[in-house]
Amino acid sequence: MAVFETEALILRSYNLAEADKIVVCLSRSAGLIRGVAKGCRKLKNRFGAALEPFTLVNLTYYEKEHQELVSFRQVEILKSRFNLSSNASILTGFSYIGDLLIDFSPPHQANDNLFRMALACFEAASETPDDLEAVLRYFEVWLLKLEGFLPDLRMCVNCHNTFSADEVIYLGLDLSLRCYECSQGRGSAVSKQLRTHLRTTEKLSPATFAEGAREVSIDTKKEMAELTFQMIGRVLERMPRVRL
Ligand SMILES: [Zn+2]
Repeated sequence: MAVFETEALILRSYNLAEADKIVVCLSRSAGLIRGVAKGCRKLKNRFGAALEPFTLVNLTYYEKEHQELVSFRQVEILKSRFNLSSNASILTGFSYIGDLLIDFSPPHQANDNLFRMALACFEAASETPDDLEAVLRYFEVWLLKLEGFLPDLRMCVNCHNTFSADEVIYLGLDLSLRCYECSQGRGSAVSKQLRTHLRTTEKLSPATFAEGAREVSIDTKKEMAELTFQMIGRVLERMPRVRL
C-alpha cells in the first residue's frame, strides 16, 4: 500500500454506508481521484469541513494496487468556499465545472495545466461572482483545448489557408473549422467577433478575460455560449447536465 500527498479540489461526494462518503476530487499530481473518507459523516470526525465541494485541500491518501478507489487518510483545508455557500448561481456554476472535470478527466492521470486552470476559474468567480458566466465560458474553452478538442482558430482544417480577420468561418460536425469555400456554408457560422473573443482566452487569465468580457456585446456572448455548448455536447455525446 502506497501513501501519497497532493493538493486537490474537492468536486463531489456521495454517501456510502452509514458513516462514510465517496469523494471525487481533481488532484494536482494524480488527476481525478475517487476515494473513501471513512467515518466522515460522524459528528466528530477527522475531516471536519474539508470535504465540502470546491474546497482546495492538501490530501493524503492510500492507494492499493489495482484498485481505482483510494482511501483518504488526512485532508487539510488550504482554501474553503464557505463564504459562497448562500450564492445559488455560484454553486450551480461550480457544480457545472465539477461535472465537466469529472466527465473529461481520465482517472489517475495528472494534468497540471488543467488543475491550475480549474483552480484559477474557481478563484476568479469566487473573487468576482458577477463575472461567473464569463469565467464558465473561459473554463469551457480551456477544457476543450487542454483535452484536445478545440479546433485550430487560425486556419482552415481543409485548405490550410489562414482565416482573414473579417471572414465568417464554419464549425463542422467533426469540431473542425473551415473557410466558406471548403465548408460551402455548412455547419455553425462563427462570427469574426466571436473568433476574436475566443482568441483572447488564449492569452489571458480567467479573471482578466472576464473583466474584458464586460465590454463584449450580448450577441457575441450568446454566440460563444451556444458554440461551447454544442462542442461539449458533441464530445460527451449528450448535453451537459446543468448550465448557466
Ligand atoms: Zn478552406
